[in-house]
Amino acid sequence: MLNLKSCPRCNGDVNVERDWYGGYESCLQCGWVKDASDEPLPGPLQLTLDKLNLEFPELVRVG
Ligand SMILES: [Zn+2]
Repeated sequence: MLNLKSCPRCNGDVNVERDWYGGYESCLQCGWVKDASDEPLPGPLQLTLDKLNLEFPELVRVG
Protein backbone atom coordinates (compact mmCIF):
# COMPACT_ATOMS: atom_id res chain seq x y z
CA MET A 1 0.00 0.00 0.00
CA LEU A 2 1.01 3.63 -0.30
CA ASN A 3 1.20 6.16 2.52
CA LEU A 4 0.98 9.51 0.82
CA LYS A 5 3.23 12.28 2.14
CA SER A 6 4.41 10.22 5.10
CA CYS A 7 8.16 10.26 4.47
CA PRO A 8 9.97 11.80 7.47
CA ARG A 9 12.79 12.95 5.24
CA CYS A 10 11.10 14.58 2.24
CA ASN A 11 7.37 14.27 2.99
CA GLY A 12 7.05 12.12 -0.09
CA ASP A 13 4.97 9.05 -0.75
CA VAL A 14 6.01 5.96 1.20
CA ASN A 15 5.43 2.53 -0.22
CA VAL A 16 4.69 -0.05 2.49
CA GLU A 17 5.79 -3.55 1.66
CA ARG A 18 5.11 -6.63 3.72
CA ASP A 19 6.06 -10.25 3.34
CA TRP A 20 6.28 -13.39 5.44
CA TYR A 21 9.24 -12.30 7.51
CA GLY A 22 8.23 -8.73 8.19
CA GLY A 23 7.94 -5.52 6.33
CA TYR A 24 9.53 -2.28 5.38
CA GLU A 25 8.65 1.16 4.16
CA SER A 26 10.40 2.95 1.34
CA CYS A 27 9.97 6.44 -0.03
CA LEU A 28 9.29 6.70 -3.72
CA GLN A 29 10.76 10.19 -3.93
CA CYS A 30 14.03 10.10 -1.95
CA GLY A 31 14.66 6.40 -1.37
CA TRP A 32 14.31 6.58 2.43
CA VAL A 33 13.82 3.09 3.83
CA LYS A 34 12.59 1.93 7.20
CA ASP A 35 12.61 -1.69 8.29
CA ALA A 36 9.26 -1.99 10.02
CA SER A 37 9.82 -5.51 11.32
CA ASP A 38 11.81 -4.42 14.39
CA GLU A 39 10.19 -1.08 14.92
CA PRO A 40 9.46 -0.45 18.64
CA LEU A 41 5.84 0.22 19.42
CA PRO A 42 4.89 3.87 19.61
CA GLY A 43 3.79 5.19 22.98
CA PRO A 44 0.11 6.04 22.80
CA LEU A 45 -2.02 2.93 22.48
CA GLN A 46 -4.60 4.65 20.34
CA LEU A 47 -1.92 5.67 17.90
CA THR A 48 -0.83 2.05 17.74
CA LEU A 49 -4.36 0.88 17.06
CA ASP A 50 -4.86 3.50 14.37
CA LYS A 51 -1.60 2.49 12.76
CA LEU A 52 -2.56 -1.16 12.88
CA ASN A 53 -5.92 -0.40 11.37
CA LEU A 54 -4.28 1.45 8.53
CA GLU A 55 -1.41 -0.88 7.85
CA PHE A 56 -2.55 -4.31 8.99
CA PRO A 57 -6.35 -4.37 8.83
CA GLU A 58 -6.34 -8.15 8.66
CA LEU A 59 -4.70 -8.32 12.09
CA VAL A 60 -7.14 -5.94 13.73
CA ARG A 61 -10.26 -7.39 12.21
CA VAL A 62 -11.97 -9.60 14.77
CA GLY A 63 -14.95 -11.82 14.13
ZN1 LIG B 1 11.30 10.71 1.03
